[in-house]
Amino acid sequence: MGRVLEAPATRGTHVSAHHDHRACTDAVLVAAHEAAIARGVRLTDLRAEVLGIVAQSHKAIGAYEILERMQKARRQEKPVAPPTVYRALEFLAEQGFVHRINSLNAFVACYAAGEKHRGMFLICESCGTVAELADPDVDNAIAQAVRTAGYQASHEMIEITGICPSCKGI
Ligand SMILES: [Zn+2]
Ligand SMILES: [Zn+2]
Ligand SMILES: [Zn+2]
Repeated sequence: MGRVLEAPATRGTHVSAHHDHRACTDAVLVAAHEAAIARGVRLTDLRAEVLGIVAQSHKAIGAYEILERMQKARRQEKPVAPPTVYRALEFLAEQGFVHRINSLNAFVACYAAGEKHRGMFLICESCGTVAELADPDVDNAIAQAVRTAGYQASHEMIEITGICPSCKGI
């Protein structure tokens, strides 16, 4: 059975508009900090700031918009250099704290950063919400099919577009 990945506090409510989204954001940051310590990598203030911005909503956000938000938060201070943000995103994606949604050229936070998993995403064409789905059966079936085809996968991401339960009015 598949399940949508989300913060423990929001489980069962999916990514409906009514859930306590602060809990999601906090859970992402806490999990990333813990994973970084366990792996001996550095979640610097800037990396954590970028992650916090990505986790601010369940919609995918592009690098340019992240940069804009960071500039806005800084006001008169020294602006952030774009490569710094790109490098931070690269680090976060490598660590699995965020996922890059190729079809949108944008990023979403991962709610299972500690677990090894293939990215499987349901993207709403109406509201832009991206839900990450975990389904070991599908994972195994794909891995098997790839092996049978004689391929060695290097990047495994599945992106499915459609209409989410909220937009469908369920
Ligand atoms: Zn949320
Ligand atoms: Zn994930
Ligand atoms: Zn939707």
